[in-house]
Amino acid sequence: MRFELTLLGTNSALPAYGRFPSAQVLNVQERHYLVDCGEGAQIRMSQFGVRRSKIQQVFISHLHGDHIFGLAGFLSSMALLGREDPIELYSPKGLEEMVRVLFKYSGGLSFPLHFHTLDTEKNQLIFEDKAITVHSLPLVHRVPSAGFLFREKERPRNMRPEKIETYNIHYRDIPAIKAGADYVLPDGRRISNEELTLPPPAPRSYAYCSDTAYHEPLASMIQGVDLLYHESTFCEDMREQAVLTGHSTARQAAEIARLAGAGRLILGHYSSRYKSLKPFLEEARAVFPNTELGDDGRVFEVEA
Ligand SMILES: [Zn+2]
Ligand SMILES: [Zn+2]
Repeated sequence: MRFELTLLGTNSALPAYGRFPSAQVLNVQERHYLVDCGEGAQIRMSQFGVRRSKIQQVFISHLHGDHIFGLAGFLSSMALLGREDPIELYSPKGLEEMVRVLFKYSGGLSFPLHFHTLDTEKNQLIFEDKAITVHSLPLVHRVPSAGFLFREKERPRNMRPEKIETYNIHYRDIPAIKAGADYVLPDGRRISNEELTLPPPAPRSYAYCSDTAYHEPLASMIQGVDLLYHESTFCEDMREQAVLTGHSTARQAAEIARLAGAGRLILGHYSSRYKSLKPFLEEARAVFPNTELGDDGRVFEVEA
C-alpha cells in the first residue's frame, strides 16, 4: 500500500534553474491529494506521470501566487477532459473569490467546486476519508497560512494465511477477523484474534510546512512525523532576509525536524538567488543528518 510524495515544484516565487514553484502530490493507497498548485503544476503532473483525474482534494497553504497560480490551468484542463466529479478545495480565506472571478468570465467549469475556508490560527482536523486524516498547522508568514499534517488511519490487522487452512476458515469470516474478532469453530472452541492475525503496519505520516518563519510550536504539532517537507527559502547567510520575508533558513528547517523527532526532512521552496543547493544540504545536515534536497520530480516513499 503506497504512501508516496511526488514533488512537482520546489522553488519559491521566481521559477529558476529548472525548478517550478510549489506544488506536490501525496499518494496514499492510490488516493491522490494535491498540495499547493504553483504555476506549471499540471505540466509537471504529465511530465512525472501523476494522474490528475484522480485528484479530488486540493490543499492550499496560502494565497501567494507561487502556491496558487497553477490552479486555474489545472481546473480548466479538468473541464476540457469532461470531469464531472467535484473538487474539494481547502485554503485560507479568499480562494473562492479569486477562482469564481476567473471562471465567471471564461466559460465556467463542467464540475462543482466545494470551498472549505481554513482557520489558519488553529491546529485542527480539517479533512478525513477512509485512508487519512488531515490537520491544519498554523504558520507564521506575511499572509494567513497553514501547513498540513497527513496521517494515515490505522489499517486492519493482517490475516495469517496458514491459519485459514488450519481452522478451515470461510472467506466471508475473514473481514471480521481482520477487524479484530475472534473465530468460533463449529465445535464451539474459540480461537483468539491474536493467534489468527498479525498487527497492522504502523500508520504513516507526512507534514507539509509551507512558507513560514521559524515557528517552534510546529515541532510539537508534528511530533514523530515520518516525512517532513519544511520550507528553506534561504541559507543562514541570508537569515535577516528570512526574518523580513517570513521564511526559514535550511538550518531552521532542520531544527524543527530535530525537535519534532521526524524520520526524514525534505528541503524546498528555494530562493532563486541560489543556483547551487549544496549549501542548503550541508547546513541542514549539520543539525539533522537525515535531510534530503527536494527537487522537481523527486519521489519520496514512506515504507509500510
Ligand atoms: Zn511561496
Ligand atoms: Zn508565501
